[in-house]
Amino acid sequence: MDYQLELQRAVDAARPVLGTGRVADYIPALGAADPTAFGLALATVDGQVYGAGDWQVPFSVQSISKLFSLALALATGGEQVWHRVGREPSGTPFNSLVQLESEQGIPRNPFLNSGAVVVTDLLLTLTGDAGHAVREFLRAESGNPRLDTDPQVAASEAAHGHRNAALAHFIASYGNLENPVEAVLAHYYAHCAIAASCRDLALAGLFLARHGIRADGSRLLSRSDAKRINAVLLTCGTYDAAGDFAFRVGLPGKSGVGGGILAVVPGRGTLCAWGPALDRAGNSVGAVTALDAFTTATGWSVF
Ligand code: GLN
Repeated sequence: MDYQLELQRAVDAARPVLGTGRVADYIPALGAADPTAFGLALATVDGQVYGAGDWQVPFSVQSISKLFSLALALATGGEQVWHRVGREPSGTPFNSLVQLESEQGIPRNPFLNSGAVVVTDLLLTLTGDAGHAVREFLRAESGNPRLDTDPQVAASEAAHGHRNAALAHFIASYGNLENPVEAVLAHYYAHCAIAASCRDLALAGLFLARHGIRADGSRLLSRSDAKRINAVLLTCGTYDAAGDFAFRVGLPGKSGVGGGILAVVPGRGTLCAWGPALDRAGNSVGAVTALDAFTTATGWSVF
């Protein structure tokens, strides 16, 4: 298969829809992103990397970081993750608080902001520095030592993060945070505000395509845990649009409001698409379209 040609075709398919989305501006530092930027990268399990468009331009990874914090919490802490967060799709927006009361402070899944805050809390307890743990992992897997948190984005999130502060305090009121709310949020913003490119993220996600094996050949996760993360990505990774994402793309995937989506093709590789213009669920319109085009043309889906 001519991967390069298929990537370019997918980027071309995305360009016409970019104008239908809107750049996230509830985090003011993200509002300046160029809505016409677009990139797509493919990394294969045998170590090849391909890309088209703006695939080497760093962007704010935002909620894509939740997949790495979950993987590291599972690798370090094991099953206790699932005592503190569920694994059911919520059908609610990523920043929703509504189910927290009926579910007694146990977030529905680890990819909602509420669930990711709990996972960050656990990772902070386990490692002493959750932001650092995620950054170091991304650097090691991507081979990009310059990859870092953008302090302006992290500060912007903290200054406007009333909803996240509210849900974190609400979770704490049920006893499901071990560390002070302010510390947990600072680490959560530190990993959300990491800047990385499609290339970096595609390489960093390859452990999920390799059933738990890292770039250096060591095992991060058991095959079972890698399978489980892929399952939760498929059902919950794109929030209340997870059904539509499965319908169109047919892959486990994680989106972020910076406009990136990292998708896993188990046993084969990873795809990372980026375009800052978002749909109403907070997923990149261009990224969903490009991934749809690529998986439809190549047959690279789990279905
Ligand atoms: N850091 C963002 C927030 O807390 C992440 C949201 C997202 O990417 N969906 O709102």
